[in-house]
Amino acid sequence: MPEFRCNKCGAQVQFDAGDRFVKCSYCNTQMFIDKSGAGFFYIMPYMVSRAQAEGTLKRWMAGARMAKDLDRLAQITDFKQIYFPVYMFRRDVGGKEVVRVEPAKSTTLPGLHSLKVPAGDLKVFDQSFQSGQGIEFMQPDIDMVAYLPGLEGNPLEQALVYFPIWAVQYEFRGKKYSTVIDGSSGEAMAGDFPTRNAAPYFLIAAAAFIIYLAEGIVGLVLALINPAFWVLTAIVALVTMPFVTAAAYAIVRRY
Ligand SMILES: [Zn+2]
Repeated sequence: MPEFRCNKCGAQVQFDAGDRFVKCSYCNTQMFIDKSGAGFFYIMPYMVSRAQAEGTLKRWMAGARMAKDLDRLAQITDFKQIYFPVYMFRRDVGGKEVVRVEPAKSTTLPGLHSLKVPAGDLKVFDQSFQSGQGIEFMQPDIDMVAYLPGLEGNPLEQALVYFPIWAVQYEFRGKKYSTVIDGSSGEAMAGDFPTRNAAPYFLIAAAAFIIYLAEGIVGLVLALINPAFWVLTAIVALVTMPFVTAAAYAIVRRY
């Protein structure tokens, strides 16, 4: 039976080959076993409640870059609490400590390549940790060693960290989107999201410009023929103005 030395209490612990998560039989600390050896297995507690995550989502959806009324019209189809596995590599790069975080599971969820793991928030996953009900733990499917050749400097520590996220799926105008709320910092990590359409604004602005320019030119030509036509031009401009304004207003309301 293979053995490893517990990172916390130093005891020799036996485990079954193929086990990835092993509990020290002396101090109950959970270890993560990788091809590169035994490492700590950390977990970050949720600092953001479901209600807070929903609030963040609403504010994010109401942002200026978002499609109009996204916060009102988006249909939330899934709002899941997930512990997502990432590898944390603390490295010494030329005397400076650098932390890199990489996903331990292949995923299409956005933002999981740029997570920040504040060292102070890490908890060793031992018997004192209460994860709470209904939280999904995703299993790693990428080996830690896969990342080692791409890392700079020398290793100080490498560990598996279970990172708290709220994974949200929603539909907007017939399309599906997903986004992630960081369960630690409360930040929204967008992937693809429905954006505000700027084209109608440019279109109405261009149309208004062309209409007024044409009226101006025609008015000028007419005024050269007979100065009395200025009055006619002014009337035409006054008549078109409400239409252009109404069109612009309709577009701003719609998009
Ligand atoms: Zn131990």
